Amino acid sequence: MRSYQIIPKKYRPASFSTIVGQDVIVTTLKNALRSRRIANAYLFCGVRGTGKTTIARLFAKALNCHALSENCEPCDQCPSCLAINAGNSLDILEIDGASNRGIDDVRQINETVGYAPAFGKYKIYLIDEVHMLTKEAFNALLKTLEEPPSHVKFFFATTEPHKVLPTIISRCQRFDLQRISPDVMRAKLAWIAKDLGAEIEEGALNLLIKASEGSLRDAESLLDQLLCSVSGPATEETAAALLGLMPHTSFFELDAAILEGNLPFAFSLAQQLFSSGKDPIHFLEGLTDHYRCRLLAHLSPAALEPYQQKAYGSSPFTRDHCLYILDFLLKMIESLSKTPFKQTTLEMVLLHLLRSKSRLTLDTLVDRLEALQTPAPVIELAKEEFVPESPLPVQKAQPKIAEAPVPSLQNNPQERKIPQHKLDTLVRFAAVELEGTIKG
Ligand SMILES: [Zn+2]
Repeated sequence: MRSYQIIPKKYRPASFSTIVGQDVIVTTLKNALRSRRIANAYLFCGVRGTGKTTIARLFAKALNCHALSENCEPCDQCPSCLAINAGNSLDILEIDGASNRGIDDVRQINETVGYAPAFGKYKIYLIDEVHMLTKEAFNALLKTLEEPPSHVKFFFATTEPHKVLPTIISRCQRFDLQRISPDVMRAKLAWIAKDLGAEIEEGALNLLIKASEGSLRDAESLLDQLLCSVSGPATEETAAALLGLMPHTSFFELDAAILEGNLPFAFSLAQQLFSSGKDPIHFLEGLTDHYRCRLLAHLSPAALEPYQQKAYGSSPFTRDHCLYILDFLLKMIESLSKTPFKQTTLEMVLLHLLRSKSRLTLDTLVDRLEALQTPAPVIELAKEEFVPESPLPVQKAQPKIAEAPVPSLQNNPQERKIPQHKLDTLVRFAAVELEGTIKG
C-alpha cells in the first residue's frame, strides 16, 4: 500500500515545465543554463508558497544534471539527479536559515566549501529564510560570497528581502517571485482535483483561492483539508465551513433584504453568524469584498474575474449606494475589532445597511436644493374659459405656461412657499444626516 502524501508535496513541480505562474523567472534561468552563464549567488524573494525553494531546487538539479534535455529540463536519470530525487545528494545542502542563524553555523559552511562535489559539477548551498541570519553570520558569509571556489554556488530564499544586508543582495542575482494569480491557481487546483478523482464546486475553489492570498502552497493545503473532510463532492458550503466563513450566498441574501427593507433580517443573520461560531470581522471583510465587486461592476467590469462577472453582472445597487456601503463597512470593521459588544454592534451595522436604500445621496440633495431655488412655472388658466361647477361638459381649458415673475419673488421672500413634498425631502435628509452625526 502506498503511503498518503499531502497535496503540496505530491504535486510539487518536478520539472520547469510544471512550474506555474513564474514564467519570466523560469525562462531567465533556462537561458542561463543554456549559455552556462551562472552567477555565484542567487536570491529568490517572494511571499510564502509561491515556489522559491521549488525553483531553487530545480535550478540546482539542472545545474548538476549530466544529461540536460534540449529544453533545459533535468534528466532525472543521471547519478546526480537520482541522488537529489532520493534526498541524499551530497552536493546540494539545504540549510534552514531560521534555525542555523548564528556565526558558528556560517563558519561550518565556510569550512566545507573547499570540498569538491560528489556527483555533479557544483556544490550548492541553499539557505532558506536567509533573512533570519544574524548580522555577524551575514558578515562571515560575505567573505565566502565575495570569492567562492569555482565549484560553489549559493542560493538564498527569503520572504523578507528588506532584512537581508544590502552587501549580500548586491552580490546576488535577484529574482522576485509573483503571487500566483487566481486564474493560474484555479487551473492547477482543478487539475489536481481531477487527477485525484475528486469533485469540487467552482464556488469552493474560489473560496480556497481567496483565502490563500496568492500562495499556491496554502491553496493546495486547503484543498487537501477540504477533500479529506468530505465524502462526496466538495461544495462551497463545506469550503466556507472549513475556512470558518459564512457562505457567499448570505451576502446575496443580505442584498435582497436591503432592497426589500427587511429590517428583521439583521437580527437573524447576526444570530446565524454567532451561533455557528463565525468571526464577525471576517464576515464584514467578506461583505466589503462583495460590495467592491458590485462597485467594480459599475466602474470597471473587465477587472472582475470571469466567475465574478456571472454573479455581479447586473447590479441592483447604484454606484453611489455601493460607495456609501463600502465607506461605512471599512469604518465599521475597525470599530467592531475594538468593541467587546460584537453581536450588538454587528446587528447595528446590518440594520444600517438594511436602511441604506432609503438614504438620500449628497448628489440627490444638491439637485433638490437647486430645484428649490428655481421658481416653478406658474400655470394660468384663461379666466373666460374657466366655468366652475358647470353641469355641462366644457371644452377643456388649454393651460398657458408662463415664467414666474422672478424679480417679485426675490423682492418678497416672505411670499415664497416651499411645497410640502420638498419640505418632506429636507426633513428626511436632515433626520438621516443627524443620525449619522450623533453616531459618528
Ligand atoms: Zn540528470
